Amino acid sequence: MSKVLGIIGGGQLGMMIAEAAKSIPEHVSKIIVLDPTENCPAAQVGAEQIVADFKDEAAIVKLAEKSDIITYEIESGDSDVLKSVESKAEIEPSPETLKIIQDKFLQKTFLNNNNIPVPEFVEISSIENLEKKLEHFGYPALLKARRDAYDGRGNFKIDNPDQIKEAFDYFKGQKLMLEKFVPFKMEVSVIAARNTKGQIKTFPLVENIHEENILRETIAPARVSEEVAKKAEDIANNTMTVLKGAGVFGIEMFVTQDDQIVINEIAPRVHNSGHHTLQSSETSQFEQHLRAILGLELGNTKLVYPTIMYNVLGSKSFEGKYKPITMSEPNVFLKMYGKEISKPLRKLGHFNVVGKNNESIEQLLKKLEPLKEKVVTQPSN
Ligand code: AMP
Repeated sequence: MSKVLGIIGGGQLGMMIAEAAKSIPEHVSKIIVLDPTENCPAAQVGAEQIVADFKDEAAIVKLAEKSDIITYEIESGDSDVLKSVESKAEIEPSPETLKIIQDKFLQKTFLNNNNIPVPEFVEISSIENLEKKLEHFGYPALLKARRDAYDGRGNFKIDNPDQIKEAFDYFKGQKLMLEKFVPFKMEVSVIAARNTKGQIKTFPLVENIHEENILRETIAPARVSEEVAKKAEDIANNTMTVLKGAGVFGIEMFVTQDDQIVINEIAPRVHNSGHHTLQSSETSQFEQHLRAILGLELGNTKLVYPTIMYNVLGSKSFEGKYKPITMSEPNVFLKMYGKEISKPLRKLGHFNVVGKNNESIEQLLKKLEPLKEKVVTQPSN
């Protein structure tokens, strides 16, 4: 039976899920998104939209009444409200899984309890407590908001005792945790899927390059040894086994100086570092997510072509309407998200540089260089 799928959030991730759904009309008949921005990216590709805040309880109930299954593209949804609508619609990943993941302290405690490696961490309850814990942790260390932190805005690196007060005040009463700073060699991630029947598949390890805490570039596959890639993929598999939720998860990790892997954080949703799969793989992460939550056999995750994904981010120097961005290079695939307004470092689109002619990552990186200039946003007036 073809199902109505509700998505909390209708940004670019919801948009690409909605597009993937079009290729399996026998399983998904309609997409409805809940998003506060009128004509959000998902609505622009044909999804019905409920215009409301992500946390609007009445709107979530309405979405559940209209849907057979609800999923989400943001992790800040209210897991208790989602739990309360479970009798109306199936929620995937489950509200229990969301509840663990959306609180970084609960998430790391859960992973730690299941013997999955994470950086050393501790809960922080007061500034005195922070001072004391830092004596044990040493410097630098990262103070993190436990919830609702995006693109690194929820972190404060403390380099010395003089910064303790500034760091504590920065979070204005939010629940906090402290984490040991990991002088990593590389940031990597695994896009992993688990379907409702327990089948698990992982996409190959990719390498992520951030600028100002925002993902800028993903290199697939990651430039690491086979042993490191296997270690990371095993950790991702183990994580999915204990986590139990159905859907695609983005598992972000650090490769340490001595080639150990520790998990930085898990996103309970499709992930920016999986956008390369739109062209590099037989199954995209968006289709895989649908397969996972619908209980279908998961698709092949083999990397068919080495690929580099580059994010189109809003220029730091202006906010407003921007000139159209185009690209016509062979084997380069630009995807803009239909956002009208550019804001500093806002994710406006991405493009994939795909190695269809057996190019090496170094050759693809060279090809990418001049293309970076073409996606610098300019005001349209
Ligand atoms: P987060 O929002 O926690 O994913 O962190 C954003 C970025 O901060 C990560 O992509 C890392 O570059 C950096 N980061 C987070 N945690 C740590 C850590 N324990 N040690 C070093 N860098 C970190």
